[in-house]
Amino acid sequence: MSQRIRGVKGTRDVLPSDTYAKDDDPWLRIGHYHLVEQSARDLFPLYGYREARTPVLERTDLFVRGIGEVTDIVGKEMYTFDDRGESVTLRQENTASLVRAYVEHSVSQHEPETKWWYVGPMFRRERQQRGRYRQFTQIGIEAFGSPGPRIDAEQIELLDRWLRALGIPFEMHLNTLGDANCRPRYREALQTYLRSRAKDLCEDCGRRIETNPIRVLDCKNPKCQEVAAGAPRMDQFLCDACKAHFAGVQESLQRLGVAFVLDPKLVRGLDYYTRTTYEAIATSGLGAQSTVAGGGRYDGLVKDLGGPDVPGIGFAAGVERMALLLARQGKEAAAKPVVFIAPLGDAEAARADQLAQELRAAGLSAEVSFRKSNPANQLKRADALGARFALVLGDQELKADRARLKELKTGAQHEVSLRGFADEVRRLLEKAP
Ligand code: ATP
Ligand code: MG
Repeated sequence: MSQRIRGVKGTRDVLPSDTYAKDDDPWLRIGHYHLVEQSARDLFPLYGYREARTPVLERTDLFVRGIGEVTDIVGKEMYTFDDRGESVTLRQENTASLVRAYVEHSVSQHEPETKWWYVGPMFRRERQQRGRYRQFTQIGIEAFGSPGPRIDAEQIELLDRWLRALGIPFEMHLNTLGDANCRPRYREALQTYLRSRAKDLCEDCGRRIETNPIRVLDCKNPKCQEVAAGAPRMDQFLCDACKAHFAGVQESLQRLGVAFVLDPKLVRGLDYYTRTTYEAIATSGLGAQSTVAGGGRYDGLVKDLGGPDVPGIGFAAGVERMALLLARQGKEAAAKPVVFIAPLGDAEAARADQLAQELRAAGLSAEVSFRKSNPANQLKRADALGARFALVLGDQELKADRARLKELKTGAQHEVSLRGFADEVRRLLEKAP
């Protein structure tokens, strides 16, 4: 036997069924992804968001300049390679890519306000853990050209509605990071404090004091969290404009009836965030990786990436974490055949193919067996597929053009005509949906 080739570490296969899974998340199935994605597809356009797709491959510079050289995801988590003299990187997140596209296609010249949403794989070379993979999926939104604060609240309300529609238990955390005006003073005060506590920080945070001190507040190490608890808070340093903005966000949220928790320690890992930041944190079911979605305002990013001075705000949600939460609740959108047809001989097989074609043309799902087997085995197979009805097609049925349709869950037998079969099936479905 030849040697097997295994998947890359930190990536995973998401298969239709978990019966053949052998990893530690056996219940993560494609049906969960479909639920999450479909609900986004249904909901986001109600708020005016339109889907945008950008490549998974971008020039490395985009992320270095867009996300910031001193962040984790640029510092150590990039998949970068040389493409004949040009350095390219698999995207780690989509905001920088969408901003690039927004600038490249001069979108601001066509529309003053733009709302885009996306779904797709992201790549980060992180340590593999439950709920943390090297290829994972994000669904997110970005709004360009709206200075807020009402759009901030609208996005948070969208996220709130989406997670609630899916039945995910969460809390919405809210903070402000100030802006180019007031954050530098805060940064300095924070640095002074952190330097005095440097010996109590983890190795990464020791480095972050000088490069990205605000990120220390977000470190998951318990020692660092203890230091963070005593750190100066951004709200003591906010300028008037940032204060007014933050008050505006909260007022709008209250008006829209969205519950939130003020969380002065909430910061985002990326450099480009200004003012409003928010995170939806699962209240149970995810353990350490409990942040389901994170977002915020990035008013300087479009300009930093060579575009006009246009503000932006958005969030990104981790589909795998949401899917895990749905799996816990036993929710799944599984595609199951309405009718499973098992022909016993060659003449029956030809008729079975036709019947399946008829059903599908009528919008009913049908699966035909392509293997020869006895009726008992075929019924077992229909059951395993979760089919609603099974039709065993033999010589007699073919001659009479009539057959018995077995309803698998109840065991009931329905006598039907094979002429106008799709109509017969539909009638049965209408009787007991
Ligand atoms: P964390 O603090 O959990 O590392 P982050 O700040 O790196 O999150 P973002 O870059 O804001 O996360 O991404 C938004 C969401 O994408 C996260 O809340 C999470 O649900 C998901 N996510 C991020 N990294 C991963 C990963 N490696 N595997 C699976 N999901 C991820
Ligand atoms: Mg991270």
